[in-house]
Amino acid sequence: MFYPQNLHTHGVLCDGKNEYEDTVRKALETGLTSIGFSGHSYTSYSNQAYCMSVEKTARYKREIARLKEKYKAQIEVYCGLEFDMYSDDDMQGYDYLIGTVHYLKIGNEFVGFDRDAQAVQEVIDNYFDGDGMRYAKEYYRQLASLPSYGNFDIVGHFDLITKHSESVAFFNENSQEYKKYALDCVHALAEKINVFEVNTGAVARGYRTSPYPSTFILQEIAKMNCGVVLSSDCHDNRFLTYGFEQAVEVCKACGVRELQVFTKEGFKGLALD
Ligand SMILES: [Zn+2]
Ligand SMILES: [Zn+2]
Repeated sequence: MFYPQNLHTHGVLCDGKNEYEDTVRKALETGLTSIGFSGHSYTSYSNQAYCMSVEKTARYKREIARLKEKYKAQIEVYCGLEFDMYSDDDMQGYDYLIGTVHYLKIGNEFVGFDRDAQAVQEVIDNYFDGDGMRYAKEYYRQLASLPSYGNFDIVGHFDLITKHSESVAFFNENSQEYKKYALDCVHALAEKINVFEVNTGAVARGYRTSPYPSTFILQEIAKMNCGVVLSSDCHDNRFLTYGFEQAVEVCKACGVRELQVFTKEGFKGLALD
């Protein structure tokens, strides 16, 4: 099946490479029937290179509104936001919100971990006495509280902490202990946010050979009848639908029976045949 949408894309006003209009054109070329943008919400606690400032956020909203109007006869354009859980950015005025965690709150500090492997090791050494499993436990404990921070439509890259798992074992992903932390979090989130993304971003960037989340998590998401969307977390148009065919196969193998597509009327199921 051809999945006709990508709701998780970044452009030049945050950390993406492309102008938003170029991404709309690329989506048209690719045959998508809709395209959603999800700029990074403003995070005062980060180095701010990757997110949109308040001023850039206003420009972002104007630009996506312009494209929505300009291309309305050809493709549906949505204005979303990838909201970092502790961000105090305004959540109003978007078609949808993707809730994600890139920073752990430890004491009064916000500790970024969506970094290279060496930086993650430093986080584990400095804040978790070198114990990677404690890091994993704390990530899922904090992620589980996502619904209390806003009305999110989609949980983004659920197991982001496994970004480097194929090259460095910070914790044992196959252990019962790890699986329990992850699945307890799925259960906590699923009560409030009913759609999870299968995200191929780390595959496109060469960190992983399979999309987020790991198969045991996706199996549980399927078993609980939660919605699933595909996204490429696109920062570069060349990879707009990268890995979607593989992701469809992974979904089928994990028991997902339909994929969700966002519309003006909300999510609609598309059967996986
Ligand atoms: Zn993200
Ligand atoms: Zn993203």
